[in-house]
Amino acid sequence: MASRRKFIYSSLFGGLGTLLGKKVIAGVSYPTVTGNPIVISTWDAGLAANAGAWKILGSNGRALDAVEAGVRVTEDSINCCVGLGANPDRDGIVTLDACIMDEHGNCGSVGALERIKHPISVARRVMEKTPHVMLVGQGAQQFAVSEGFPLEEQKLSDDAKKAYEQWLKKSEYKPIINIENTKSGGHGPSAPVHLPNGELNHDTIGMVAMDAAGNLSGSCTTSGMGFKMRGRLGDSPIIGAGLYVDNEVGACTATGQGEDVIRICGSHTVVELMRQGMSPGQACKTAVERIIKIKGDKAGEIQVAFLALNKKGEVGSFAIQKGFSYALKSNKEEKMYNAKSYYQ
Ligand code: ASP
Repeated sequence: MASRRKFIYSSLFGGLGTLLGKKVIAGVSYPTVTGNPIVISTWDAGLAANAGAWKILGSNGRALDAVEAGVRVTEDSINCCVGLGANPDRDGIVTLDACIMDEHGNCGSVGALERIKHPISVARRVMEKTPHVMLVGQGAQQFAVSEGFPLEEQKLSDDAKKAYEQWLKKSEYKPIINIENTKSGGHGPSAPVHLPNGELNHDTIGMVAMDAAGNLSGSCTTSGMGFKMRGRLGDSPIIGAGLYVDNEVGACTATGQGEDVIRICGSHTVVELMRQGMSPGQACKTAVERIIKIKGDKAGEIQVAFLALNKKGEVGSFAIQKGFSYALKSNKEEKMYNAKSYYQ
């Protein structure tokens, strides 16, 4: 997978780079793109997800439909990090979390959902068909089945199976995720969760988009932290933490250690900072600094990243550790960006 990933970077991005006549990994400066439609999403899986979203955005569709369709691409892919083949909890069971929010402030969410392939679509049904915002566990599954979602067998991907078997050897509960710079002696802990093939686990895709009509929506879906305690929910299904959309201001999604995103109501905080006049990049940085202040000496041990879009179509991102990347697609470009970070 590591070499596959390298291949994807060099062939796909290289190809795009040639196509667009631009360097594809564009360093840490913010994209200059403004306007709509536009879609951004977390990590390298975001490229394929954005392409899925673009089928709707590119033909004047609604941002809500786009962000659902986009992350379904990731949920469909056999990988270790999102969807039914993903890293399980420490009892070996894959539990999925997702949320979605539209331009009217409608939102829906599912937590600890088992054996359903598309938690994002169940979250949308919660939003549209129930008087509630969030359903969890058995109740969420029962609702999904009643809505016609098939009950699937859990099928760990080979990577997830190997990673879980490796984890079981020590069965150490260390909630560490998405820290990429430790290989090069960065500020992360000594033991980030590497898959057996050396790749790091990215458990989440968060996506926000603005459609041709200028409306914003967002989605977030995850298997959560790998080998988490049974019953643990992170930020990803929590409106205001893993995702927030305010159609007057902007939208934000988060990835990384969910506990620390929840602590500061991360995505909501970023949107409120944008409301006060900050650019998306400044707002993400200010939210990260708030986490750093709370964590003190322990800030170097975690990764959290925010990715935001404002009403003008401006994009910004900021992470605690370096190594966080996001995918952007607009009428002008389709590429990966590296986020700025607190630790270099
Ligand atoms: N935020 C997710 C969680 O804490 C994990 C991730 O983003 O990788 O469950």
